[in-house]
Amino acid sequence: MEIVGDNLPRSIVILGGGTAGWMAAALFSRALAGRCDITLVESAEIGTVGVGEATIPPIRIFNNTLGLDESAFVRETRATYKLGIEFNGWTRPGERYFHPFGVYGVTPDPGYFHQYWLKLAALGRAGPLEDYSLCAVAARTGRFGRQSQDPNSPLSTFGSAFHFDASLYARYLRGYAERLGVKRLEGKVEKVDLRSEDGFVEALVLDDDRRVEGDFFIDCSGFRAVLLEQALETGYEDWSHWLPCDRAMAMPCERQGDPDPFTRSTAQAGGWVWRIPLQHRDGNGYVYSSAFLSDDEAERTLREGLGAAPTAEPNKLRFVTGRRRKAWNKNVLGLGLSSGFLEPLESTSIHMIQAGLLKFLASFPGRQWDPVLADDYNARIALDFERIRDFIILHYHANQRDEPLWRQTREMAIPDSLAQRMALFAARGKLSLAAEEMFTVTSWQAVMHGQGVSPAAYDPLVDLHDVDRIAAEFDRVRDEIAAAAKTMPRHIDALRG
Ligand SMILES: Cc1cc2nc3c(=O)[nH]c(=O)nc-3n(C[C@H](O)[C@H](O)[C@H](O)COP(=O)(O)OP(=O)(O)OC[C@H]3O[C@@H](n4cnc5c(N)ncnc54)[C@H](O)[C@@H]3O)c2cc1C
Repeated sequence: MEIVGDNLPRSIVILGGGTAGWMAAALFSRALAGRCDITLVESAEIGTVGVGEATIPPIRIFNNTLGLDESAFVRETRATYKLGIEFNGWTRPGERYFHPFGVYGVTPDPGYFHQYWLKLAALGRAGPLEDYSLCAVAARTGRFGRQSQDPNSPLSTFGSAFHFDASLYARYLRGYAERLGVKRLEGKVEKVDLRSEDGFVEALVLDDDRRVEGDFFIDCSGFRAVLLEQALETGYEDWSHWLPCDRAMAMPCERQGDPDPFTRSTAQAGGWVWRIPLQHRDGNGYVYSSAFLSDDEAERTLREGLGAAPTAEPNKLRFVTGRRRKAWNKNVLGLGLSSGFLEPLESTSIHMIQAGLLKFLASFPGRQWDPVLADDYNARIALDFERIRDFIILHYHANQRDEPLWRQTREMAIPDSLAQRMALFAARGKLSLAAEEMFTVTSWQAVMHGQGVSPAAYDPLVDLHDVDRIAAEFDRVRDEIAAAAKTMPRHIDALRG
């Protein structure tokens, strides 16, 4: 082995100052501790996508890695806490279910808890699954608490994330990154210079002819994918035959009452509408398919459902669901919207930025190019994208609605990976998940049951145990969870600190 001494890239250039760009800048500035020049180029004229407000629990790991103080972060980004997502009308109009964070029951094995529950529920001796989730019960009663490290406490089963103002989050991280030495350049990239010998990116050329050279480039330029697509022509895998929504219209409105500690997603004829409570306003938007709904109809539905005065004109967005064929191509890594897009039904895009960054740091390139690192990274990120894709398709496929969009998604052929997962669950209530999957057993159980996928049988090993004893245990767990939720402060009081 050759000892190089210092094989770090000398300079990293980040193109884009949205959530992805500033998350990358913040993490690199922290992890590389001044050993590598980091420059971020962004254009105020182009602006950012301006949406992206709901997250999932691993965001806490990202914030903790940066060493952010939670109270300051909540204050600066006008954040609220999130305990899960309420789905309305996704099976049929009028029905609802909750996808909670944390786990069901208080045992360390949520898979097995679920098997007992299947038998008891069939006997009419257990309540709804949600009664056994502390997050679901706390959300229903507008409470929020802290996770306990005591494994015997129901509070240890708790999980939470945040809703925040994405522009304020980017601004907050910008301050952090600039304090740690990241250099920010305002300007529009007009041209990308490629090296003649191997087609690697050599420099970004700005509209005032400034040339920004780098060893490695991070493409955070949003849907434009200026480096990965416009310059390197990486290619895109289109998944719109499974996920036909291709438009979104976002429109914030004034807050009414106390903010809920959960996101709301309500199915509509042409897609679905989100509501995300922040401290100072609600984020709202309609994600829809242009094949089934016009922009005017979407805007009408969105406005009618606001229930409060809008605080901005609608932000209209177009997208194609899918992923870039290579998230890491040559000396360019794509993060955020430049690397692919899955609709925000399960709040996964910001998480994918974080997942991409952490995987990249674990495969950090040296000055010498080694394609094995990029191949490995691309394979792992592709799997992440596909698993989220399957999870989102499940919501659309298992529905009993009557409108054309919903009939189409119910009748379409789904990916084999999802078909197998649904078949196993429908047979035995089992889930065979890989260790590193982003969505846990609890998430899949919540959405399978919520969408009406009912197991035909439970695990026969459950019959080894006395049913009266298990039923009594379930009653105790349900009471403990209800009692624990009552000890929590109201969400609004938790936010006031
Ligand atoms: C409708 C919708 C709802 C969403 N909701 C959620 C959600 O609830 N939760 C979630 O996790 N995610 C959500 N997302 C995704 C989330 O918004 C993005 O993942 C996140 O904002 C990251 O965006 P970005 O930084 O990749 O792109 P952008 O915010 O678009 O930033 C791109 C940056 O690149 C710069 N740029 C582009 N071209 C050039 C150029 N030529 N020269 C210089 N600068 C340039 C721009 O100025 C900008 O700074 C949602 C997305 C959409 C479309």
